[in-house]
Amino acid sequence: MTDIKRMTREELKCFLSEMGEKAFRADQIFSWIHEKRCVSFQEMTNLSKTLREQLYKTAELPVLKIEDLKISALDGTRKYLFSLSDGNVIESVLMRYKFGNSVCVSSQVGCRMGCRFCASTIGGVVRNLKASEILDEVYAIERDTGENVSHVVVMGSGEPFDNYEEVVRFLRLLTDPAGQNMSRRNITVSTCGIPEKIRRFAEEDISIQLALSLHAPDDGIRKKLMPVANQYPLKDVLAACDAYFEKTGRRVTYEYALVRDVNADVSSAEKLGRLLQGRNALVNLIPVNSIQERSYEKPDREALLAFQNALAKYGINATIRREMGADIQGACGQLRRSYLENGRKGALTE
Ligand code: SAH
Repeated sequence: MTDIKRMTREELKCFLSEMGEKAFRADQIFSWIHEKRCVSFQEMTNLSKTLREQLYKTAELPVLKIEDLKISALDGTRKYLFSLSDGNVIESVLMRYKFGNSVCVSSQVGCRMGCRFCASTIGGVVRNLKASEILDEVYAIERDTGENVSHVVVMGSGEPFDNYEEVVRFLRLLTDPAGQNMSRRNITVSTCGIPEKIRRFAEEDISIQLALSLHAPDDGIRKKLMPVANQYPLKDVLAACDAYFEKTGRRVTYEYALVRDVNADVSSAEKLGRLLQGRNALVNLIPVNSIQERSYEKPDREALLAFQNALAKYGINATIRREMGADIQGACGQLRRSYLENGRKGALTE
């Protein structure tokens, strides 16, 4: 079976011409999949019955199934647990903002980067997601809510640059004018920092917003939180981010999860200020979300504001991330973990 949902328009044209079909059929099918978000060939009513049957026999349209859904009573955030056709589960989150609906998508089943504070990485990586599956995280949420999704952040489970090709394919499909047509400035890819992939990403002609999970002002502290820091020194990671900004003109966001007694004191803030000084950088401060498996705690409000103020002295703009869906296991990978540990029933009743 050929997955035609991950095909670009050009690839779809080739696929159909091999079936003896005209090129405009590819445009029709692309529109059914990516504009009208249909889930079966039967719905493609402007195709002949014979073509629909032929497609049914040779092609597939991966569709995610909702296994569990938690809706925040505080802010309407919706956290989805989806199952894939092979039985694996992933999570995606819909956040409602004044500027529109934003979906946080997973790029892998699990993750192998091992960040100490993150629930997604505890069981390691199971497999990469296909572009069609990442896309359907967005489409499935649109089908479920009947609302348009205007923003996407690739900040769910997984390291997007560890699944580089499929993530870039996903981004090309998401921004295709004949499909979802999402604006590039409304899409953010977040990475733990793999310099050669950041540089390669700068060379793609897609100019997506880039966020770096920095989380520390120096290599020593970073290594305590992120094993990937043993592989790539901060100097190289930041140089790659600078190259990204230079090439694309997109200001890089530096994410910094504040962890009490690890990286949240004023001296860390000052170090961070010196590190980023002179860069056109935006820092996003995230009070760490405690997960059951680890003892990391967020700093109190006062320490958070002191950190922000210390950064301001270096001319660094820092926003504090508003917590969304705090009542529904909002942090990365927590819903999937409770599903894996307690089985389906546990996840549904918790
Ligand atoms: N692998 C990518 C994207 C997925 S994680 C990356 O590392 O950027 C998305 C963001 O959530 C990252 O900045 C990650 O460090 C952060 N994160 C993960 N677990 C968290 C937690 N418990 N509290 C706060 N931030 C967390």
